[in-house]
Amino acid sequence: MNPAREFLLNAAAKSVDLAHRKIIRKNMDHYEVRLAEGVARFADWEGARDVCSAIKDDAIEHLGDYLKQFEAKVKARGGVVFWAETAEEARDYVANLARDRGVKRVVKSKSMVTEEIHLTSALERAGCEVLETDLGEYIVQLRNEPPYHIVTPAMHLTRKEIYETFKEKLPGITTDEPVELVAAARRVMREFFFSAEMGISGANFLVADSGMIALTTNEGNARLGTALPRIHVVVTGIEKVVPKLSDLGILWPTLAGAATGQSLSAYNTLIGGPRRQNEVDGPEEFHVVLLDNGRTALLAESEQREALKCIRCGACLNNCPVYRQIGGHAYGTTYQGPIGSVLTPHFRGHDFDHLSYASSLCGACTAGCPVKIDLHHHLLRNRRNAVQNSRPLLERIAFRLFRWTMLSSARYTWFAGIGKKLATLLRGTAFDPLREWNRYRTPPQMPKKSFRQMWRDGDV
Ligand code: SF4
Repeated sequence: MNPAREFLLNAAAKSVDLAHRKIIRKNMDHYEVRLAEGVARFADWEGARDVCSAIKDDAIEHLGDYLKQFEAKVKARGGVVFWAETAEEARDYVANLARDRGVKRVVKSKSMVTEEIHLTSALERAGCEVLETDLGEYIVQLRNEPPYHIVTPAMHLTRKEIYETFKEKLPGITTDEPVELVAAARRVMREFFFSAEMGISGANFLVADSGMIALTTNEGNARLGTALPRIHVVVTGIEKVVPKLSDLGILWPTLAGAATGQSLSAYNTLIGGPRRQNEVDGPEEFHVVLLDNGRTALLAESEQREALKCIRCGACLNNCPVYRQIGGHAYGTTYQGPIGSVLTPHFRGHDFDHLSYASSLCGACTAGCPVKIDLHHHLLRNRRNAVQNSRPLLERIAFRLFRWTMLSSARYTWFAGIGKKLATLLRGTAFDPLREWNRYRTPPQMPKKSFRQMWRDGDV
């Protein structure tokens, strides 16, 4: 089935699933309260957005220079940097590394880029056991599901569903008490943390002037997963680079504020290379895989390159009325919601053009974006690109006819009269072109007389 058809079917099913809607609404209500509190803690939230936007603008405009600076610093500290042009190159690099080093167990901390390149299955094919160590990611891993949301991967699940999953997959689960469930997950993870030979993380930011990767989590799992195994592999998109260490002073709190309403995420870590001689913690090997996978093509589009500024806070998903109805899985993509709908046609091609239409264009995504990406206008640009790429014949004919009609008042009046009669006749039938719309909405009743007739008859 093509992705557009699949999306329509999934979205139609989810939008009438009241249990799904209930849990999403509950979580989003909770988020809105937290977000308002988080924003209120800023003396000047709009000012913070302006500064973050300017930092990321600078980073994107000089991406190549900052990445080279970052690479040089990492190498100087004994790290390895691998430039992966495609998802396949990135997957192969990590899988071959695991094979070469005899890795049997891998711990991962949350990373959307590794989802994007399907790294877990590549490592499993290479003979590794792979464990997600972010609790939400671990839950969806147990259920063999992709993440539902870029920040909160298990947002769609109720406590009961999580309990059922744990009971089925883990031994000795007898209660749905969250404390017990977390303790059970922790037991599994601790064992993995101490036995894994490789830890894989993403990066929230790559700091050019110091060659550090910046990681931010609320569970501390990234610290254990990157410090205990003897190999640390960072898999990250090239757009994550920022110029200076001091930029994190505003980027970190703004990211936390927009994502979860926190002042700052609980654990913020900077890592710059393998363990050095006088250090007790850290890996023996440190590899950074810098993934392109369509990003430089987007960078080349001056009109839309600002989409690369995204810091993956998830705020645009939370604000989007479409996402709130259909949820994350309906999109069938790694990045969902408004930013996913903007990026995916650039990353994965025209099969995903339909996502740009999954928006009310209300602008709520743009209004909430902490780096001020003009999301809803990018969705419009994607629509324009989609139309330019392949405009259906029927649509072309319809627009020509529309233009021809609108250029003559007599033709307009004639067609309006025909349209009125047809609308009444066809409404609700298989021939009604608006039947999808009318299935869920009461169509407006056509007035008996048009304004012109009323004017002519002296009614107005
Ligand atoms: S586009 Fe903006 S709001 Fe959406 S995830 Fe990225 S940074 Fe957050």
